Amino acid sequence: MREINLSNGKTIEVECLSCALTSGLIEPDGGVIIETEHFHAHQDVAYPIRGLIILASKRHIKCFDELTDEEKLDYIKVLTKLRQAQREVLGIEYVYYFYNEDTTHHFHTWMVPRYEWMYDFGRSVESVRPVLLYARNEMNNHENVNEVIKAINSLNKELNNWGGDYEK
Ligand SMILES: [Zn+2]
Repeated sequence: MREINLSNGKTIEVECLSCALTSGLIEPDGGVIIETEHFHAHQDVAYPIRGLIILASKRHIKCFDELTDEEKLDYIKVLTKLRQAQREVLGIEYVYYFYNEDTTHHFHTWMVPRYEWMYDFGRSVESVRPVLLYARNEMNNHENVNEVIKAINSLNKELNNWGGDYEK
């Protein structure tokens, strides 16, 4: 069991944080970006990077080869939709995808957008952790977090077609 401190000050104990998030037991800060039958996309705002997305399965599995055929199809479709929304709504040109199976959570893919400032940390996989830590430690200010929340709302709006018909 893990103790999770909620933003309302309460503490709860959960077996798996991913299960708690994808089942709706815990609402991620900034809210859900998109939910499908088998997947749930949100942002961990503890890493305040505009357009960073975590795509988690709803089922408690660890490894890629545990996905059913239906889940595989849903995964690639929603991953592509998210990528397209990052490009069209937020102007994100490149993304790094990160996914590890020996996690304390369950199956989830990080989609980490690349911004100019990140190239100071290098161009390959070893730059990902320093970039995330830099964001958490140095970019956790009110103004940037607001930008991050705004981006989550824009992605959510795009992906769930709010009011799309009014603009035609
Ligand atoms: Zn789980």
